[in-house]
Amino acid sequence: MTAEVETTLRGPAAFTLARQALEAMESAGVWPTPLNFELWLHYLGEPDSPLGKEMKRLLDAGTPFTEDISEMLLAEYLPRGRLNDEIRDAGVVLNRELNTVAEVIAEARSSQAAYGETLAGAGAAMETPLEPGDLKRLVGDLTTATSRIHRENASLEKRLEASTSEVARLREHLEQVRRDAMTDALTNLANRKAFDEEMTRACEAAQQRKAPLTLAILDIDNFKKFNDTWGHQTGDQVLRYVASVLGRTLRAPRVAARYGGEEFAMLFPGETAPMVEAVLNSIREEIGSRSLKRRSTNDDLGAVTVSIGLAQKQGDESALTLMGRADEALYASKRAGRNRVTSAQKLATAA
Ligand code: GH3
Ligand code: MG
Ligand code: MG
Repeated sequence: MTAEVETTLRGPAAFTLARQALEAMESAGVWPTPLNFELWLHYLGEPDSPLGKEMKRLLDAGTPFTEDISEMLLAEYLPRGRLNDEIRDAGVVLNRELNTVAEVIAEARSSQAAYGETLAGAGAAMETPLEPGDLKRLVGDLTTATSRIHRENASLEKRLEASTSEVARLREHLEQVRRDAMTDALTNLANRKAFDEEMTRACEAAQQRKAPLTLAILDIDNFKKFNDTWGHQTGDQVLRYVASVLGRTLRAPRVAARYGGEEFAMLFPGETAPMVEAVLNSIREEIGSRSLKRRSTNDDLGAVTVSIGLAQKQGDESALTLMGRADEALYASKRAGRNRVTSAQKLATAA
């Protein structure tokens, strides 16, 4: 929770804000789930924050607030939650294991020191002539000390092994958490956060190597109408379908991501706009070529089409302006009648 909402929630206005959130959810026809409640607290408490603005945009557009949308907003704008908990838990485990290792080392040291003393004592005792009884006792003591240090070493080794495998397990778990944080749950493609990071990396690499880099944005056509006609769940099925075509067609170093809602972003490192335009046209044709069936009822849904805009990075252009030009090209595709690919370069030439 951001500091501002946090403070309001501990202040005199808290109950008013909470009541307003409930009322606003009711009038928007949204279930008062804990997740939605949190979103609405932010929406009303901080209308000018990025989350507040995005929610206003979605509400104004009449977007139904499905669980998916709420989850996406939460993940995008308030990403503490699960991830922070996981990282905090991992920190606790790591701390515990490091303590164990430090203890094991300290114990090993002190038992080695004690053993050393026993040996030194025996050495000193043997400087003077020994009675057979003394010698027997001395050897007996040494045998006892030796088997004790063997036992201690074995037990320390066991504890070290346990610690090592606990740390390995933790590392694997954190790796999974990191992958989850970068993946869109609905489509399994990279999410916006992952894409933004890739984009920054790809822009830097393109600049350094003076290699081309092309960005494309794809948006499903008339998707709102599709949702209104067939329902959100079937809409989700279409999102997965489009994602599967992208995932299948675009192999590394190309990157495909779900950028938000029904919008996908793609990166083509090392490729120029004309090369990419051809690839995108075949993707567009493939997506539109199939007549979709609704899984639950077998209803014929017809085909979905997509509009695409692409732009090749120019000189030292920033990721943001590149994105802006691809977006403009996408809207040119929409204006020209949808189900088409527009290259920003051609747009500029035509203008
Ligand atoms: P256009 O051709 O101009 O892109 O029209 P459109 O209807 O696709 O565009 P608009 O932006 O008006 O509507 C986008 C719709 O996408 C609104 C919302 O219902 C839907 N949508 C966004 N995210 C999801 C999602 O996660 N699941 C489903 N089923 N629908 C979604
Ligand atoms: Mg859209
Ligand atoms: Mg659309």
